[in-house]
Amino acid sequence: MKKKIKTRLEYLRGEIGAERISYGEIAELQSLAKYIDPGDVLLLEWAGVPEFDKTIECGSCEQLSDKPDKNWECPKCHSGNWEWKHYD
Ligand SMILES: [Zn+2]
Repeated sequence: MKKKIKTRLEYLRGEIGAERISYGEIAELQSLAKYIDPGDVLLLEWAGVPEFDKTIECGSCEQLSDKPDKNWECPKCHSGNWEWKHYD
């Protein structure tokens, strides 16, 4: 992930936390949805991405999943290093 984008996502998280996120910022969050960590439920919710509606890929062993367990642990290598398969 580009550092600039990550910084921006953290800024938007702060705005959500402070309950002052604007519609424009929500739209921006949606445009950045592919950069949101698959386990980051708060940002995904605000970006309107259904929690278990995308195929994800383990960054460590390339296991594919559309339904990670609730701990977001890879069933094969037990890492939590999921990435969106979609957006490669
Ligand atoms: Zn794995």
